[in-house]
Amino acid sequence: MDTVLTAKDAATPQAAPRVEYKKGICGICPAGCYETIKLVDGKLESIKPVKGHPMGILCTRGAYSNEIIYSEDRLKYPMKRVGERGSGKFERISWDEALDGIAAKIKALAAEHGPESIANYFGRGSFDISLNNIFAVRRMHNACSNIFFPLGSPNTFGAGSLCYVSYGILAPMTTFGKPEKMLSIDYEHSNLIVVWGGNPPTDSPPFKWKQLLAARRRGSKVIVIDHVRTETGKIADEWVPIRPGTDGALALAMINVVIEEGLYDKEFCDNWTVGFDELRQYVKEFTPEKAAQITWVPAETIRRLAREIAATQGVGFCSYTGLEYTNSGVQNIRATFILMAITGNFDQPGAWCFRMPAPPSVTRNVIEAPKGKPPIGADTYPLFCEMTDTAHALELPRAILEGDPYAVKALVICGAAMMISFPQPELWRRCLEKLDLVVVIDRFLSIDAPHADYLLPATTLYENEGYMAYPFGHVQYRERIIEPLGEARSDVVTFIELAKRLGYGHLYPQNEREVVDWVLKDGFVEPREFRSNPDGFPTPKKEMQYRKWEKGLLRGDKKPGFPTPSGKYEIASTSLARHGHDPLPKYTEPKEGPISTPELLGEFPLVLNSGLRLQSTYRSQHLNILGLLKLQDKPQVWMHPRDAAPRGINQGDRVYVTTRRGRVPFYANVTEDIVRGAVECNVGGGGPQQKKEWREANTNHLTDHDNRDPISGFPVFKALLCNVEKDHAYDPPAVERKAENAGANGRTQSNGKH
Ligand code: SF4
Repeated sequence: MDTVLTAKDAATPQAAPRVEYKKGICGICPAGCYETIKLVDGKLESIKPVKGHPMGILCTRGAYSNEIIYSEDRLKYPMKRVGERGSGKFERISWDEALDGIAAKIKALAAEHGPESIANYFGRGSFDISLNNIFAVRRMHNACSNIFFPLGSPNTFGAGSLCYVSYGILAPMTTFGKPEKMLSIDYEHSNLIVVWGGNPPTDSPPFKWKQLLAARRRGSKVIVIDHVRTETGKIADEWVPIRPGTDGALALAMINVVIEEGLYDKEFCDNWTVGFDELRQYVKEFTPEKAAQITWVPAETIRRLAREIAATQGVGFCSYTGLEYTNSGVQNIRATFILMAITGNFDQPGAWCFRMPAPPSVTRNVIEAPKGKPPIGADTYPLFCEMTDTAHALELPRAILEGDPYAVKALVICGAAMMISFPQPELWRRCLEKLDLVVVIDRFLSIDAPHADYLLPATTLYENEGYMAYPFGHVQYRERIIEPLGEARSDVVTFIELAKRLGYGHLYPQNEREVVDWVLKDGFVEPREFRSNPDGFPTPKKEMQYRKWEKGLLRGDKKPGFPTPSGKYEIASTSLARHGHDPLPKYTEPKEGPISTPELLGEFPLVLNSGLRLQSTYRSQHLNILGLLKLQDKPQVWMHPRDAAPRGINQGDRVYVTTRRGRVPFYANVTEDIVRGAVECNVGGGGPQQKKEWREANTNHLTDHDNRDPISGFPVFKALLCNVEKDHAYDPPAVERKAENAGANGRTQSNGKH
């Protein structure tokens, strides 16, 4: 019945909106920033960082929480596919129907093909600590979960197959025996910070950025080595542009200078390393002049940087995942670590340091991987599988499409967009079509979702009860800020309910409240106290000590040395040698590039790079959120003016980026903030709910499934060849033409700038 307002109704004063302010944890991404949240009639309206709290940070995405939570595009009800795979036709069903149906199909497939045929994939949208610790994978802290180990399947896959594990696990473990998460930069005492392979303002949370800016204010110098001048590059004392994928050659050339000129820490190299003499021999070929040809960094700059790093006391090494995506990603990262260590800039005041050993603040529910068949990828990337306790997703197509080494039949995908994240989306589409069961769990309709048999709606973390345990030593309660939208559920609850139906629900706490109680059971704070102190609790800390290898603070047996097979800092890695890799930090020229494949340069003369993070997106998320799209409404390819000019390309032009594998439309960002000869393509495009220009721009049509780092198995995302051509047929929408004529769309301004 229509509602009719009478004159009397209209005159009745409306009840004033109920405004409430609450302190709580941001629920957009898993970083857990701490906010003062404004609620109006129970709806989240805005958030502001809590001043004075270590996690009082707000990023651009968090500022748009309201738009993300209440977006019309949110999935709110469980659905079952009714049309063809990929048709996107679903009907609404109840949670019980969905979970009963999924469990029945999993049981049937496991009985017919073995439990190892059932797999799960966890993407970056699923890294909530409450989930990761209850469905814990022993060696993958907060970066993957597992739901099928108790069923008998070793096949837990995660975004670690193409992100972070090279930098965070493989390189550090094979060099000094601890993962990256056990270290932090001693910013307070740094005199020079070398940012190499990272851009802290786009981290989630941008915690290091706050520290780096404070160090800079205190007088620390900042040098950024990167193919693009990032936000960090813009505030740095020096930006050193480099050819993407060649960072290993630069590090080795700097090591060459340091050794040849006797600038290294002799005591450390003599007493605490293995492989120094072999390294001395190996780097002889990496003269600055030779490295200049490889890296495009002038020889004089290489010498000057090497001398400065060696001469400065307290060099903070600030890195992240930027060096992972070339044919020797793990070894290149190791080379940068070794450069810092042999110049006396490791676990020293102002340097990259081990955190002081401390008991865990929360308990993890680790269920060991089954001992039956090895995980997918163990035959090709054994070190990866051994050091992460997970399977390798790059090998998933081989298992699904060819049954090699055995068939995978069911895949539960949580918080991911596999057809956007991995090279060659068509290959992944074929995989999803071939599977007998695909379950997608997400907040929005991902690119994989139309191929699902069941689509399950996930909450934002604002709708969940949980907790945070921060690596710098702080635990905090996550209060539910708003009720779940529609029938969306926390992933923890979804998996607990699925586990019950598969016969092993007793292995987990039974609901979100029990999860919080359970993880605190061995801790230093009672659940009741925990819940009633929203600011959280610092965990017990020990005073910082440096040079921990001398003091027996690194090894389980408390003896001096490093927790490596040799007990030393392994310049020559025992684990790499055991798996048939070169033990030294050997540089490999990118397999597809100006030096290895000069015959391709005629057609593809530019180095293709992708993966630069944007403030307005979180991987492939948020490209449907209008407020965030205003910050950048189209996918860009960055190119240098001297590469753009001969192609007749101007700022904002629609262009095609082409490789041997595909052609993708982007919009030109002509800028001197990128090294000449390389281009940088935005990633994240391709999702069905995204703005048209982004939807058309799935960068991974350009990349190569088979071109990988042989140690990590990571795809080469940052060192391929491409060309860029103007789309002469493009007819910009009328609104854009009007703006162009008025010189108001940024083109005029940018041309002036460049
Ligand atoms: S980094 Fe994540 S948790 Fe922090 S404000 Fe941004 S979206 Fe929220």
